[in-house]
Amino acid sequence: MTETSNTTDDSEPLMIKGRAVSPVLLEARPLSRCRLEECQSYCCSGGVWIHTRQVADLLAHQELIKPHLPPERRDASKWFDGTDELDEDWPEAGNATGTAVVDDPTHPAGTTCIFLTPDRLCALQAAGIAAGEHPWRFKPFYCALHPLGLDGGQLALVEESEIYKEGGACSRTEADTPPIPVYALFDVETKLALGEDGYAELAAYAQRSAGGD
Ligand code: SF4
Repeated sequence: MTETSNTTDDSEPLMIKGRAVSPVLLEARPLSRCRLEECQSYCCSGGVWIHTRQVADLLAHQELIKPHLPPERRDASKWFDGTDELDEDWPEAGNATGTAVVDDPTHPAGTTCIFLTPDRLCALQAAGIAAGEHPWRFKPFYCALHPLGLDGGQLALVEESEIYKEGGACSRTEADTPPIPVYALFDVETKLALGEDGYAELAAYAQRSAGGD
Protein backbone atom coordinates (compact mmCIF):
# COMPACT_ATOMS: atom_id res chain seq x y z
CA MET A 1 0.00 0.00 0.00
CA THR A 2 1.36 3.38 -0.92
CA GLU A 3 2.10 5.54 2.07
CA THR A 4 3.67 8.42 0.20
CA SER A 5 2.10 11.72 1.17
CA ASN A 6 2.28 14.50 -1.38
CA THR A 7 3.08 17.79 0.22
CA THR A 8 2.66 21.42 -0.72
CA ASP A 9 5.48 22.56 1.53
CA ASP A 10 8.96 21.65 0.23
CA SER A 11 10.28 21.42 3.77
CA GLU A 12 7.72 18.82 4.87
CA PRO A 13 8.90 15.24 4.97
CA LEU A 14 7.44 12.60 2.71
CA MET A 15 6.10 9.44 4.32
CA ILE A 16 7.43 6.26 2.72
CA LYS A 17 6.61 2.91 4.30
CA GLY A 18 5.92 4.62 7.58
CA ARG A 19 9.30 6.40 7.61
CA ALA A 20 9.59 10.19 7.31
CA VAL A 21 11.95 11.10 4.47
CA SER A 22 13.55 14.50 4.05
CA PRO A 23 12.72 16.21 0.72
CA VAL A 24 16.46 16.87 0.47
CA LEU A 25 16.80 13.30 -0.78
CA LEU A 26 14.90 14.30 -3.91
CA GLU A 27 17.18 17.24 -4.71
CA ALA A 28 19.57 16.86 -7.64
CA ARG A 29 23.01 17.94 -6.50
CA PRO A 30 26.54 17.78 -7.99
CA LEU A 31 27.56 15.22 -5.38
CA SER A 32 29.78 12.19 -5.54
CA ARG A 33 30.49 9.44 -3.04
CA CYS A 34 33.48 9.56 -0.76
CA ARG A 35 36.80 8.05 -1.79
CA LEU A 36 38.59 6.05 0.87
CA GLU A 37 42.05 7.10 -0.25
CA GLU A 38 41.04 10.71 0.34
CA CYS A 39 38.65 10.53 3.29
CA GLN A 40 40.69 7.99 5.33
CA SER A 41 37.42 6.77 6.87
CA TYR A 42 36.94 9.94 8.88
CA CYS A 43 33.40 8.78 9.59
CA CYS A 44 34.92 6.06 11.78
CA SER A 45 37.04 8.37 13.90
CA GLY A 46 34.51 8.64 16.74
CA GLY A 47 32.97 5.16 16.73
CA VAL A 48 29.27 4.61 16.23
CA TRP A 49 26.01 4.11 18.06
CA ILE A 50 24.95 0.47 17.78
CA HIS A 51 21.75 -1.31 18.77
CA THR A 52 22.19 -3.78 21.64
CA ARG A 53 20.56 -6.43 19.44
CA GLN A 54 23.45 -5.99 16.98
CA VAL A 55 25.92 -6.08 19.86
CA ALA A 56 24.58 -9.47 20.92
CA ASP A 57 24.91 -10.68 17.33
CA LEU A 58 28.52 -9.50 17.06
CA LEU A 59 29.44 -11.19 20.33
CA ALA A 60 27.80 -14.40 19.16
CA HIS A 61 29.97 -14.27 16.01
CA GLN A 62 33.12 -12.87 17.59
CA GLU A 63 35.32 -15.73 16.37
CA LEU A 64 34.54 -14.69 12.78
CA ILE A 65 35.44 -11.08 13.56
CA LYS A 66 38.60 -11.37 15.64
CA PRO A 67 40.90 -12.52 12.80
CA HIS A 68 40.22 -9.21 11.03
CA LEU A 69 41.44 -7.14 13.97
CA PRO A 70 44.96 -6.47 15.21
CA PRO A 71 45.80 -8.84 18.12
CA GLU A 72 45.53 -6.11 20.74
CA ARG A 73 41.89 -5.43 19.76
CA ARG A 74 40.59 -9.00 19.88
CA ASP A 75 39.26 -8.91 23.44
CA ALA A 76 35.52 -8.66 22.79
CA SER A 77 34.89 -7.35 26.30
CA LYS A 78 36.54 -4.10 25.14
CA TRP A 79 34.62 -3.61 21.91
CA PHE A 80 31.85 -1.40 23.35
CA ASP A 81 31.87 1.62 25.64
CA GLY A 82 29.24 0.46 28.16
CA THR A 83 26.60 3.11 27.54
CA ASP A 84 23.05 1.79 27.37
CA GLU A 85 20.46 4.29 26.18
CA LEU A 86 17.17 4.23 24.36
CA ASP A 87 17.44 5.23 20.70
CA GLU A 88 13.95 5.89 19.36
CA ASP A 89 15.21 6.45 15.81
CA TRP A 90 15.92 2.78 15.16
CA PRO A 91 13.62 0.94 12.78
CA GLU A 92 13.03 -1.30 15.81
CA ALA A 93 13.18 1.01 18.81
CA GLY A 94 15.58 -0.25 21.43
CA ASN A 95 18.62 0.50 23.47
CA ALA A 96 21.97 1.31 21.97
CA THR A 97 25.58 1.56 23.03
CA GLY A 98 28.75 2.96 21.48
CA THR A 99 31.62 1.11 19.86
CA ALA A 100 34.86 1.72 21.74
CA VAL A 101 37.17 4.43 20.44
CA VAL A 102 40.92 3.88 20.54
CA ASP A 103 43.92 6.11 20.02
CA ASP A 104 45.46 5.86 16.58
CA PRO A 105 48.28 8.29 15.94
CA THR A 106 48.44 7.16 12.31
CA HIS A 107 44.95 8.49 11.64
CA PRO A 108 44.54 12.21 10.95
CA ALA A 109 41.81 12.39 13.64
CA GLY A 110 44.04 10.72 16.26
CA THR A 111 41.34 8.25 17.30
CA THR A 112 39.27 5.61 15.54
CA CYS A 113 36.55 3.09 16.18
CA ILE A 114 38.09 -0.10 17.56
CA PHE A 115 36.86 -1.93 14.45
CA LEU A 116 38.70 0.30 11.97
CA THR A 117 41.78 -1.53 10.77
CA PRO A 118 45.10 0.15 9.93
CA ASP A 119 44.22 0.03 6.22
CA ARG A 120 41.14 2.18 7.02
CA LEU A 121 38.70 -0.65 6.39
CA CYS A 122 36.01 -1.94 8.73
CA ALA A 123 36.81 -5.30 10.35
CA LEU A 124 33.09 -6.01 10.66
CA GLN A 125 32.59 -5.56 6.93
CA ALA A 126 35.67 -7.68 6.20
CA ALA A 127 34.30 -10.41 8.48
CA GLY A 128 30.97 -10.45 6.66
CA ILE A 129 32.66 -10.73 3.27
CA ALA A 130 35.05 -13.44 4.46
CA ALA A 131 32.10 -15.44 5.83
CA GLY A 132 30.42 -15.33 2.43
CA GLU A 133 27.64 -13.14 3.76
CA HIS A 134 26.40 -9.71 2.71
CA PRO A 135 29.16 -7.12 3.33
CA TRP A 136 26.85 -5.40 5.81
CA ARG A 137 25.97 -8.61 7.69
CA PHE A 138 27.86 -7.47 10.79
CA LYS A 139 28.10 -3.74 10.08
CA PRO A 140 26.29 -1.43 12.51
CA PHE A 141 23.12 -0.01 10.97
CA TYR A 142 24.20 3.62 11.24
CA CYS A 143 27.55 2.87 9.60
CA ALA A 144 25.90 1.20 6.64
CA LEU A 145 23.38 4.04 6.37
CA HIS A 146 25.96 6.86 6.43
CA PRO A 147 26.07 9.55 4.99
CA LEU A 148 22.33 9.20 5.30
CA GLY A 149 21.11 9.27 8.86
CA LEU A 150 17.99 9.40 10.98
CA ASP A 151 17.38 12.91 12.27
CA GLY A 152 14.57 12.80 14.80
CA GLY A 153 13.44 9.64 13.05
CA GLN A 154 13.52 11.28 9.60
CA LEU A 155 15.72 9.78 6.90
CA ALA A 156 18.01 12.62 5.83
CA LEU A 157 21.40 13.46 4.37
CA VAL A 158 23.89 14.19 7.15
CA GLU A 159 25.06 17.64 6.09
CA GLU A 160 26.48 18.98 9.33
CA SER A 161 28.88 16.99 11.44
CA GLU A 162 31.98 17.59 13.49
CA ILE A 163 33.86 15.18 11.24
CA TYR A 164 33.26 17.45 8.24
CA LYS A 165 34.92 20.34 10.08
CA GLU A 166 37.87 18.11 10.90
CA GLY A 167 38.46 16.80 7.39
CA GLY A 168 35.87 14.15 6.64
CA ALA A 169 34.09 14.26 3.28
CA CYS A 170 31.32 11.67 3.23
CA SER A 171 29.65 13.25 0.22
CA ARG A 172 31.57 15.64 -1.96
CA THR A 173 30.29 18.59 -3.98
CA GLU A 174 32.19 18.90 -7.25
CA ALA A 175 31.40 21.55 -9.82
CA ASP A 176 32.03 19.23 -12.78
CA THR A 177 29.81 16.44 -11.46
CA PRO A 178 26.41 16.15 -13.17
CA PRO A 179 23.62 16.71 -10.62
CA ILE A 180 22.06 13.52 -9.34
CA PRO A 181 19.19 13.08 -6.88
CA VAL A 182 20.58 12.40 -3.43
CA TYR A 183 18.49 9.23 -3.04
CA ALA A 184 19.86 7.85 -6.33
CA LEU A 185 23.49 8.57 -5.47
CA PHE A 186 23.00 6.83 -2.12
CA ASP A 187 20.71 4.17 -3.49
CA VAL A 188 21.91 1.22 -1.42
CA GLU A 189 21.74 3.29 1.75
CA THR A 190 18.21 4.48 0.90
CA LYS A 191 17.18 0.88 0.25
CA LEU A 192 18.60 -0.15 3.61
CA ALA A 193 16.32 2.36 5.32
CA LEU A 194 13.21 1.97 3.17
CA GLY A 195 13.52 -1.46 1.57
CA GLU A 196 13.45 -2.14 -2.15
CA ASP A 197 9.76 -1.36 -2.37
CA GLY A 198 10.15 1.85 -0.40
CA TYR A 199 12.99 2.91 -2.66
CA ALA A 200 10.86 2.22 -5.74
CA GLU A 201 8.04 4.25 -4.22
CA LEU A 202 10.37 7.16 -3.51
CA ALA A 203 11.85 7.00 -7.02
CA ALA A 204 8.38 6.97 -8.58
CA TYR A 205 7.39 9.98 -6.48
CA ALA A 206 10.57 11.80 -7.54
CA GLN A 207 9.88 11.10 -11.20
CA ARG A 208 6.30 12.29 -10.90
CA SER A 209 7.48 15.45 -9.16
CA ALA A 210 10.14 16.09 -11.80
CA GLY A 211 7.45 15.72 -14.46
CA GLY A 212 5.29 18.28 -12.69
CA ASP A 213 2.51 15.82 -11.84
S1 SF4 B 1 31.92 -0.29 12.95
FE1 SF4 B 1 33.17 -0.20 11.10
S2 SF4 B 1 32.18 1.29 9.73
FE2 SF4 B 1 31.35 1.58 11.81
S3 SF4 B 1 32.57 3.22 12.75
FE3 SF4 B 1 33.50 1.24 13.33
S4 SF4 B 1 35.07 0.82 11.75
FE4 SF4 B 1 33.69 2.42 10.97
